[in-house]
Amino acid sequence: MEEFRCKFCNRLLAKVEEAQKVEIKCPKCKTLNLYTLNEIIVVQVDEDYLRRKFNKNRDADLDATSSD
Ligand SMILES: [Zn+2]
Repeated sequence: MEEFRCKFCNRLLAKVEEAQKVEIKCPKCKTLNLYTLNEIIVVQVDEDYLRRKFNKNRDADLDATSSD
């Protein structure tokens, strides 16, 4: 079993066996942690940005594939 901890606040997020790719959003600091075989990618999620984006898109169609 391999432990995955948040790279930002070190909170234990999961224990995974034979993981090749794990994507976990830390419930504490909202950092998105991406673990792959070769690298670890950490994304600090801006909650305010997501909220504004969601509110903006609420008036449009639910077409997530289209870009602005
Ligand atoms: Zn965290």
